[in-house]
Amino acid sequence: MTLVDIGIPVLRETIDARADGAADRPDVPELIDRFGRVARDLRVSITERCSLRCTYCMPAEGLPAIPAERLLSADEIVRVVDLAVRMLGVHEVRFTGGEPLMRRDLEQIIAGCAQRLPHVPLMMTTNAVGLEHRAQALADAGLTRVNISLDSVDRAEFAKLTRRDRLPSVLAGIRAARQAGLSPVKVNAVLMPDTLAGAPDLLAWCLDEGCELRFIEEMPLDADHEWARANMVTAATLLEVLGTRFELTEVGRDDPAAPAELWTVNGGPATVGIIASVTRSFCTTCDRTRLTADGMIRSCLFSDHEVDLRGPLRAGASDGELAQLWRGAMWQKWAGHGIGAADFVPPDRTMGAIGG
Ligand code: SAM
Ligand code: SF4
Repeated sequence: MTLVDIGIPVLRETIDARADGAADRPDVPELIDRFGRVARDLRVSITERCSLRCTYCMPAEGLPAIPAERLLSADEIVRVVDLAVRMLGVHEVRFTGGEPLMRRDLEQIIAGCAQRLPHVPLMMTTNAVGLEHRAQALADAGLTRVNISLDSVDRAEFAKLTRRDRLPSVLAGIRAARQAGLSPVKVNAVLMPDTLAGAPDLLAWCLDEGCELRFIEEMPLDADHEWARANMVTAATLLEVLGTRFELTEVGRDDPAAPAELWTVNGGPATVGIIASVTRSFCTTCDRTRLTADGMIRSCLFSDHEVDLRGPLRAGASDGELAQLWRGAMWQKWAGHGIGAADFVPPDRTMGAIGG
């Protein structure tokens, strides 16, 4: 097991995100930026509402509701996803939120995208509350895979962290997803100091259930603004804790653009991943572009720079015009999140409002 905590990247100094428009942008269809990256992975947030209140994400009372008229409709989402794939080189699409299962028309959104884009992987990141009752319909609609967020398999710990006693529903949702063929089911876990000791139990549970577990370092995107470098569980600390029960061997990334670094567990073939977004930032290979539930393009989780697609879309813009706006938005993408920079300020929108 070798992993060195390299500290927090300071990339913001090199950022010139809000400079001029896209006049110097080469005339190519893809979503390129000034640093040579190409965005092919689209994250679509479809709601800010959620059935849980994870302390590292949502405030206890939930996020302020987006007025209904500002939310993109199912048809609007399908149109935008379709043009992103056809005109901008997007290769895969992930629905997120908030909690995507909070939308009753989720099956309609998936079916609309699947009909237009039968060869594109359509995925969802979900907390799995209630998934038990919808997994089959979502698979039938064309959903390819799910990533399920689960931070603890201890019911009391889960309830404390999410402020809701819903662990049984989540576990039933994971099993239903597997039965519906939404495989491989990947489990995402954000560890907090309080839940760190339970990490080996979570890994053991995932190994038993045949789920691929990936830990994510907590980022300063919580609505309560309580994130502190001194309190976050780093990848290095997590590896020490997992190493007390498992033999871990580093295998690196299975794809250079993948954020997760992998370790085999007890000689493999099972692996565990760590997404060290803070201590081992992957900004230089980031290939993401984001659409918020109210129809804004965001080039980075941490940048408040947004480009409005909803307004032009509703005013009658053509697909070509919308695609051009999107290209301009991504050309402005900055070099990196700069969490360690002296002038770092968390973005106005928090994780639940952008979509992780
Ligand atoms: N509700 C769904 C869920 O929890 O999977 C989808 C939305 S949630 C915002 C997407 C992912 O972001 C989850 O895996 C969650 O654990 C992660 N997340 C939320 N807040 C985070 C934070 N402050 N730092 C790192 N990851 C975070
Ligand atoms: Fe909801 Fe997901 Fe945020 Fe938890 S991480 S509060 S489940 S949006």
